[in-house]
Amino acid sequence: VTHDHVTYNVAVLPGDGIGPDVVSAALRVLGAAGEAYGLRFAFSHLAFGGAAIDACGHPFPDEVRAAVAGADAVLLGAVGGPKWDALPRERRCETGLLNLRKHLGVYSNLRPVRVFEGLEGLSPLKSEVARGTDLLIVRELTGGIYFGKPSFNTPTEGVSTDRYTRGEVERIARVAFEAARTRSGRVTSVDKANVLDVSQFWRDVVVGVHESSYPDVTLDHLYVDNAAMQLVRDPRQFDVIVTANLFGDILSDLAAVIPGSLGLLPSASLGDGPGLFEPVHGSAPDLAGKGVANPVGTILSAAMMLRHSLDQGEAASAIEAAVQTALEEDPTTDLGGSRGTEAFTEAVLKALPTPV
Ligand code: ATP
Ligand code: MG
Repeated sequence: VTHDHVTYNVAVLPGDGIGPDVVSAALRVLGAAGEAYGLRFAFSHLAFGGAAIDACGHPFPDEVRAAVAGADAVLLGAVGGPKWDALPRERRCETGLLNLRKHLGVYSNLRPVRVFEGLEGLSPLKSEVARGTDLLIVRELTGGIYFGKPSFNTPTEGVSTDRYTRGEVERIARVAFEAARTRSGRVTSVDKANVLDVSQFWRDVVVGVHESSYPDVTLDHLYVDNAAMQLVRDPRQFDVIVTANLFGDILSDLAAVIPGSLGLLPSASLGDGPGLFEPVHGSAPDLAGKGVANPVGTILSAAMMLRHSLDQGEAASAIEAAVQTALEEDPTTDLGGSRGTEAFTEAVLKALPTPV
């Protein structure tokens, strides 16, 4: 237990739909973990997405731009909904989110995928295949074919360019190797090196980072087509998967269905400044205001914030264990349990260590 007297400044963007419900659950859990571990938080709540469009006509106001840049970390709920879907592209919630990520320079996207004990039956995979799945996908987020130049289409051709620099691959490889050190110590780098020069380059750079700095981590390589097949055939074989922007987009959505509810999945997006932490699910307008949103994805995102941005791994692990306990007792209704957002959050609070 640590008692440093730093105050962590967290910019909180609850967003729309169920965003405010799940974020307030996560803040209660953070507060309780803070008391147990002697951590202080200053939360500044800001309107973002549809809430900001309603307040000032723009999804990503200048005030939010300044606040997130000066924070230690950013906790986001979810944005968007039918009310704002008809707006022009530059004023849409999704554009605000892309601009937030760009503004923070978050080049790595971390998506852990866990099948919790007792919830194997929810997986679309056979229970015996799903059971024990615990993997992390590290996706490169600001390079590759999504951003390579030239990129255009004309009536006679369409062109996108896949391009990575040594520095871009080195820094994402380091994120994956560091994460593996806190997990089971294995990294699988996914590419298409048998066909694409950019992938052969990716592989060579990953091997170089491994040899020079992370010989204690086990590294192997898979082609992306095989990786997709293996994720469905036996996801338990993976610890950390690191891959380029496009492959990561596809594989992380594939992997997200394995636990059986979107409501369980957290994410972290990291760069050199404040990290951005948000559940994988969207604003689920059908559930807004009903008190039934599953807060686990957001609570686990807050745990990732403690681990990755605030260097409080012990408090993060305590939250993860408390979530596991609460899920085993009685999960939320989307998982076939009987608890709503509030009751489930109370159960997590109860399962946390008490203040010293
Ligand atoms: P977006 O476009 O914002 O990504 P989406 O339409 O892809 O949104 P979500 O909003 O993520 O989808 O949710 C799809 C459905 O999954 C919801 O309508 C809801 O029924 C269910 N769902 C998502 N998140 C949760 C949650 N936290 N708890 C319970 N159910 C959820
Ligand atoms: Mg979606």
